[in-house]
Amino acid sequence: MTRPPDEGVYRRTTEVEQQESGVLGNTKHPDGEPWAWPESTWRRIVERARAGRNLKPATWPDRAACAVALSFDADHDTIPLRDGLESPMMISQGQYGSRRGVPRIRAILERESIPATFFYPAVSALLYPSEVRALSGDGHEIGIHSWIHERNNLLPYEVERELSFRSADTLSKIAGTAPVGMRTASWDFSPNTLRIIREMGLLYDSSLMADDDPYELLEDGEPTGIVELPPEWIRDDAVYFNMARFEGLRPYTPPSAVEEIFKAEFDGAFDEGGLFVLTMHPDVIGHRSRIGILQRLITHMKARGSCWFATHAQVAEWCRQRAAPA
Ligand SMILES: [Zn+2]
Repeated sequence: MTRPPDEGVYRRTTEVEQQESGVLGNTKHPDGEPWAWPESTWRRIVERARAGRNLKPATWPDRAACAVALSFDADHDTIPLRDGLESPMMISQGQYGSRRGVPRIRAILERESIPATFFYPAVSALLYPSEVRALSGDGHEIGIHSWIHERNNLLPYEVERELSFRSADTLSKIAGTAPVGMRTASWDFSPNTLRIIREMGLLYDSSLMADDDPYELLEDGEPTGIVELPPEWIRDDAVYFNMARFEGLRPYTPPSAVEEIFKAEFDGAFDEGGLFVLTMHPDVIGHRSRIGILQRLITHMKARGSCWFATHAQVAEWCRQRAAPA
């Protein structure tokens, strides 16, 4: 790791500022306009966190046809808090995730005997410590999901690093076991995120999207040993159901269509013998009109054949141990 921490001077604009200005990143890049960059610049950018070896194993445990890793990002109240918003209405939307979402999800997972991974912003875990302990007690994995859902690409290296370590430490104390994996808030990666994950000694990340199946992350061309379990916006409930309050934009996808998309993504993984990672949010999927998607999806998966339902940590460990020599 010879590269110094990235100063992060470029693109220090919020998404709102970007929308208002109509341009992505209204700060000048130190190397000038992208079309005039030397090759070294665009190569340096793409090499920061690159997909390396495919880590899809030859077989899954018990000769299962595919692996299924269900994850729930328990953001709860942190989304408005992250933006400095104090509206009790918005906070209450987050609290719904804990009051109604998690109990419904937990009941389904228990009935189906399926372990899952719950990624917690540390502030969310501090707000609902008994929930974290109960999920951990059920055998589910607790993973890192930022401090307060902060946007890591706005942070200097030292701040992002300190928050990441503090988040892991907080989850460790509440859940009773040290987390081994991270899903960054909103799947964002700053130029320094992979370096920090390596410094933390984590087993896996689940934020980057270069494949359907697990792969090894490379930093500046160097194999890191860190397993990437790729999520995708296609396999995320929030993108189909969230609304923009003042922009006339409403959820445009009916629950039945979301179910169809999730099933199609799973069927592809099953047919290829690959990995199916699905991201849901208790305050999104947990509603009465949506929770049935999860139940019917599980019924569909079990009906297709033998699937290995596992936590992200279990999948990452299985793949890491069976990786062909580099
Ligand atoms: Zn989140």
